[in-house]
This record gives sequence, structure tokens and C-alpha cells, in this order.
Amino acid sequence: MHLSTADLIWLNGELVAWEDAKVHVLTHALHYGTSVFEGVRAYETERGPAVFRHQDHLDRLEASARLYYMDLPFPKERLREATHELIARNGLQSCYIRPLVYRGHGPMGLDPEQNPVEAMIAVWEWGAYLGDQGKREGIRAKVSSWRRISSESLIPQAKAGGQYTNSVLAKIESKRGGYDEAILLDDKGHVCEGTAENVFVVRDGQLVTPPPTASILDGISRKSIIEIAGDLGRTVVERDVARAELTLADEVFLVGTGAELVPVREIDDIGLGPPGPITRELQHVYDDALRGREQRYAKWLDFVPVPSQA
Ligand code: PMP
Repeated sequence: MHLSTADLIWLNGELVAWEDAKVHVLTHALHYGTSVFEGVRAYETERGPAVFRHQDHLDRLEASARLYYMDLPFPKERLREATHELIARNGLQSCYIRPLVYRGHGPMGLDPEQNPVEAMIAVWEWGAYLGDQGKREGIRAKVSSWRRISSESLIPQAKAGGQYTNSVLAKIESKRGGYDEAILLDDKGHVCEGTAENVFVVRDGQLVTPPPTASILDGISRKSIIEIAGDLGRTVVERDVARAELTLADEVFLVGTGAELVPVREIDDIGLGPPGPITRELQHVYDDALRGREQRYAKWLDFVPVPSQA
């Protein structure tokens, strides 16, 4: 498998060579999942690379850290500038961006408050997470046998490393079963989300998506799609979604930073047909927004100031 890399990674304030960006094996986060992270993207625009909704991602990173009793070890503005520098110095026009804040090497055990809080940012070229074909033709999804973590034991609103074992189990199960993606129900049996995407169903021209109280991660793509749909004059209702509504829906799609907007063409082996008109329309406007082709959404772009030199 071809793995995309870049020259430099930002690690605790320094730019280091990709292959030198290492941690000690006793890093607390490696043992107990005590990290928080973001998945962000930068896109090539006419004015150079631009990070999509950068501030929203940094705010969510800070919120996730806070929920796990950590202060960001660098101010958000510093992380923002470091990301810009990293993109420019790696000569990238578009990339995936992965900031991670984690409990480092220190005392072992479940009280990590003496362990240092460290930070890294990596950038690399990464195509659509569920594939370009998936974006075009739709994907095959399966409702997972795993339920999405609930707020009775973890924090669905936090993007925390350890919590992602839930997504990893669901993802492996779906892939081994021959599907592209899993859709998880919440602890009450309502539709929750994909392993790294929020879900929308279209019924009778209306968009429906589970509310934040349904144990979803409050996705930034989800928020963008709700705004775009409103601007297009579509009603979006945030309410519980029953499992059967996935297959009764006229259209279903997933949204996330990695995947972007992906139509679902089959759920639990029941075909939904090719991507429908509302999915297509939203996908089109969203793609334009991401790539700076839609002036109305230029407010979401954080341009990398130094033109990158390949
Ligand atoms: N749900 C989960 C569990 C995720 O990991 C992600 C990806 N961050 C999303 C939803 C979508 O969030 P966003 O649109 O902010 O990428």
C-alpha cells in the first residue's frame, strides 16, 4: 500500500523530519488512549492553500482537551500558525491535517495529571477517505453490531483517541463483511453516525439528521451542510432517526472532513438507488465551498499566508 508522507512534522514547537517524529513507548496515550485530536483539511484554491474551518477545528480540539482535563500546551493561534508553516514548508497545495494533543511519557497508571501534555501536527496528501468512486457512485453501508459510545461512560462530543476503539471495531467489522462503512446506532437504538462521519437522510424533500443529544460527534461538516441546505431553501430537522428510516429514505448520505460528502447507495444489503438529486446538489455546493469556488462560504477558508514552494 502506498502511504503518502511529507518532509516535516511539527512536534512540540519544532519542525522535525517525518521519520524522526517519534515518541517513547511508555507514552501515556499509547497505553490508555489519553489523547485528543482533530481531522482537518486544506484545499487548493485560486489564492493558494486554504484550511477549511480552521478555527472551528481548533476550538473543538481545545474543548476535547478540556473534557479530558488537559490544557492545550500551545495557544490555538500558535497551532494555527504552525499548521500554516507546515503546509508551506512541505510544499503542499492540499492536504489532510492531523493535530494531536496527548499525555506523554511519565508515571504509568491511570492518574495522568503528572504526565506532560504534548502536541504534534502532521500534514500529508490524502484523497477522499471513502474513495472518489464512493463520492461519485455512493457506498455500501451496514448497521454495525456495535453501538456508539454513550455519555454514560464516555464523552461522544469529544474527539479523544481512546474513544476511537469503538469506531475501529465497527470499521473492521464492516470491511470484513464486505461493506465500505458502518453506521452505528446509539444506546437507545436510534441512528447515530458513521465511524467518522455524521449521517443525513432525505425524506419527502426534507433533510433529517440526529441531534447532538444522540451521542454524535458534533461534526463541522454536518454544521456546514445544515447551513448550506438552509441557504438552498431546504428544511433540516434535527431529530431521532429510526433504523428503518435509513432504508425507507429517498436518499442517505454521510459527511465528514475525511470523507467529505458521500452518498450511500445501499444499507444492510437493501439498495437505495443511485445518488439522489438533493445529495448531488449539496455535494456540488459543498465541494465548491471547500475549494473556494463559492464566494458565499469564503468565510470558512483560512488561507495559508506564505505561498508554498514545491
Ligand atoms: N463522527 C465521528 C465519530 C468522527 O470521527 C467524525 C470526524 N471528525 C465526524 C463524525 C465528522 O466530523 P467532522 O465533520 O468535524 O469531520
